[in-house]
Amino acid sequence: MRFNVAQLLKRATGSSRRYQMREGIEGIDPGLTIREPLVGQIEMVRTADGILVRGELTTAVELQCDRCLEPFIQKVEFEIEEEFHPAIDMGTGGQPPYDEEETRIDEHHILDLTELIRQSIFLTLPMHPVCRLDCLGFCGRCGQNLNEGPCGCEEPEVDPRLETLRKLL
Ligand SMILES: [Zn+2]
Ligand SMILES: [Zn+2]
Repeated sequence: MRFNVAQLLKRATGSSRRYQMREGIEGIDPGLTIREPLVGQIEMVRTADGILVRGELTTAVELQCDRCLEPFIQKVEFEIEEEFHPAIDMGTGGQPPYDEEETRIDEHHILDLTELIRQSIFLTLPMHPVCRLDCLGFCGRCGQNLNEGPCGCEEPEVDPRLETLRKLL
């Protein structure tokens, strides 16, 4: 996800470019199991200080369900909007007053979206992922995945002494 923005940096403020993205991002983070390529559209707009990147992107990751502990595929949709700044001022050749590394355009005019996208994916993930809203989880007694059927522990155990008492009433 590296873009050479040398040409766009030379254009007037307000100039823009669009990119159609479709890119495998399997290795973007060791903690993520990416299951679909990153797809979406990105627009880059020349601003007074740099380049504003906007986009809507989707991918899919494999997560583990909090309730039944089975792996499942979670669709991930997110928007990005971030201004990137050149590491070297195009006019003076000096250092401009910006220092955030992940939104820096390097000295070869490469704008790298990898870190922004990696962080955006993590921000999108649910705290407690569930494979589906009505996931039944597993039985606390025998450990069976209840999505695959009842386990037999579900019948409430009736105390035989209470049962005798009930018959007397
Ligand atoms: Zn589940
Ligand atoms: Zn059970």
